[in-house]
Amino acid sequence: MYDIYKIREDFPILGREVYGKPLVYLDNGATTQKPRVVVDAMVDEYYSVNANVHRGVHFLSQQATELHESSRETVRRFINARSANEVIFTRGTTESINLLASSFGEEFMCEGDEVIISTMEHHSNIVPWQLLAARKGIAIKIIPMNDKGELLLDEYEELFSERTKLVSVTHVSNVLGTVNPVKQIISVAHAHGVPVLVDGAQGVPHVAVDVQDLGADFYAFSGHKVYGPTGVGVLYGKEEWLDRLPPYQGGGEMIQTVTFEKTTFNELPFKFEAGTPDYIATTALARALDYVTALGMDNIAVHEHDLTQYAMNRLREIPGMRLIGEAAEKSGVVSFLVGDIHHFDMGTLLDRLGIAVRTGHHCAQPLMQRLGIEGTVRASFCLYNTREEVDALVAGVERVSRMF
Ligand code: PMP
Repeated sequence: MYDIYKIREDFPILGREVYGKPLVYLDNGATTQKPRVVVDAMVDEYYSVNANVHRGVHFLSQQATELHESSRETVRRFINARSANEVIFTRGTTESINLLASSFGEEFMCEGDEVIISTMEHHSNIVPWQLLAARKGIAIKIIPMNDKGELLLDEYEELFSERTKLVSVTHVSNVLGTVNPVKQIISVAHAHGVPVLVDGAQGVPHVAVDVQDLGADFYAFSGHKVYGPTGVGVLYGKEEWLDRLPPYQGGGEMIQTVTFEKTTFNELPFKFEAGTPDYIATTALARALDYVTALGMDNIAVHEHDLTQYAMNRLREIPGMRLIGEAAEKSGVVSFLVGDIHHFDMGTLLDRLGIAVRTGHHCAQPLMQRLGIEGTVRASFCLYNTREEVDALVAGVERVSRMF
């Protein structure tokens, strides 16, 4: 039984009010709220274990190291990686993608080589490739999409050339909610001998991810979008790729020996983890993954799918409503505009009713350009949202619409 009201009790913030109204938090695409077990894990570790990991002979350091490394194992299990060596802790999706762009670009790409991304990428899966383009003269090719917000796979296949070195696509769009057929996208790339990075920032919180089943060569996600703390994320990479990539940053932890003449690098995954990791956050991330595992990713997906369909059906009834993103496979996100009401005005007035939504371009300006709009209002749902909250959103949008 998916007992939504019991689940909500795990998230203290959901009980608060804003402007004297019960909080309706529908900005989960930006970040999710934290269950008590996650915050408790951080407090407990600071109060009873805190010590720097990996370097200490003393008791606390060893205990902190055990917690940190068992968190890596929890992540491995959660995404079904083959080995914990394939799990690199980063600060989040953005750093994971920058790490790969820098390291992969350095080793495997030169002037004239190509990377394929899609129309619906977040800026964090566009700008790192543009920086690489400026540094190395690589070209960026774009997978187009239809008006419903689905990628065009025939056109995708035509983008490949001998110079294609990498495909980097989002698992789930943060604006449209489209769940991309990444398994198929990966198998097409592999048929051309090209590896694939998946931006899983919006994938991991909403769909069960099995990196081996997907065949992903690299998979990036953020802790804070999956009920974990800020400041921690993951880059998964197949060991055979990670072994061949040069380090991203230099410093402590990532070395084996250092002389002023020469440094040899540590083994995986430490080669990519320079400096003190956020070991408190990795512990808390593991508790967040345990939490969603206990609820069941499939149950969460069913709940969110139900909410999304319910929200779309109800919003559609509002005069002047334009839903943006109507892909057949959709998860957790509803973007919309009503008449000529500016998205910012809609968001500001909804806020006064206690309803937190996001407005603007959602860090996907090229997607906005493709859609011919400046921004949208975005409601994004997650495991603790209710139909009553969708009703509150619909009533709020109706009220704001009547005001204009
Ligand atoms: N990719 C997608 C699809 C996202 O939605 C986000 C966050 N909005 C990111 C990447 C970046 O994540 P972070 O800011 O946690 O690094």
